[in-house]
Amino acid sequence: MLVNDAISTTPSADHLVPHIPGVIFQLYRSHCGQMRFSYLEGGGESLKHIDRQQLATDANPLIKQLTDSDHPKIMSAIERSAKAMLPLSTRFRLPFPEDRPRWITVSAKPEPTTDGVCWNGMMMDITDQVAEEQRLRKLCDTDPLTGLPNRRKLMMHLNHLSALSARHGTPLSIMMLDIDHFKRLNDRWGHLEGDNVLKKLATQAQTLLRSEDMVARLGGEEFMVVLPLTPLQQCHKLADRLRDAIANYDFGVGAGQVTLSIGVAEYRCGEPLDSLMTRADQALYSAKDIGRDCVCLLP
Ligand code: GH3
Ligand code: MG
Ligand code: MG
Repeated sequence: MLVNDAISTTPSADHLVPHIPGVIFQLYRSHCGQMRFSYLEGGGESLKHIDRQQLATDANPLIKQLTDSDHPKIMSAIERSAKAMLPLSTRFRLPFPEDRPRWITVSAKPEPTTDGVCWNGMMMDITDQVAEEQRLRKLCDTDPLTGLPNRRKLMMHLNHLSALSARHGTPLSIMMLDIDHFKRLNDRWGHLEGDNVLKKLATQAQTLLRSEDMVARLGGEEFMVVLPLTPLQQCHKLADRLRDAIANYDFGVGAGQVTLSIGVAEYRCGEPLDSLMTRADQALYSAKDIGRDCVCLLP
């Protein structure tokens, strides 16, 4: 179809559909669960390789292609939509030959039929949009100087882990870290060198701790570590090992000039996270009071 044709005459749906950047479909599901695409037409690169003729008799080859985690998700979305007669609206990854999977959004309206349910809807490739969402989410969750998770990300993670800990009765501990006399270091070496110390400290802490422990920058020269499946005494040991390694690491600003005070605390089942963090903070203050470069826990 030439563009001029489309403008000068009123185009019919048959002419238009192959040119739209997505797929229009009618999905039919019988009461016994048999699914087929009674209509599946449209353009869009990502859906080009699907075999429409085969799907007209059986939708399973397409559904079976979905990645492991998306398969149950889409099946339950279909089930919910059929039960409540509410719009089907979800997204899934469609494996693509010789390329990375593409993200597809599906939106469809269900209608009951005599022997099943029929959805009329569309699918669109939203891979670029999802990549942009992921980029923005990472930006929201990351401290730009050190590349560590920021406070927001840490709190979400801690929320999740504390719920698991409460449900399964597993231990969970945190460390609150603060660089000693950092203002003095900035005054002597300059703010840029101070920034370098923060970056190196972030890298060192991540290297020294276990991969499942999340190290985050809370702000300024304060950091926090969340240690799943870790009781208080073990957290104390790990914190002291970290403190010792940092005190002996060469940050390029004079031997022993970068030290850490650390407060540790263990999550008590069901307590608000504020109180856990306050306890770790108080332990940190005790470490400062005692003389810095040490680890404290409150009884
Ligand atoms: P204390 O041992 O009691 O913790 O002393 P301190 O000097 O570390 O603590 P204080 O709160 O007095 O000073 C923190 C300093 O951290 C002051 C501030 O300029 C510096 N700081 C905060 N954020 C940054 C940053 O992003 N980069 C650099 N270079 N310095 C920072
Ligand atoms: Mg501080
Ligand atoms: Mg400090």
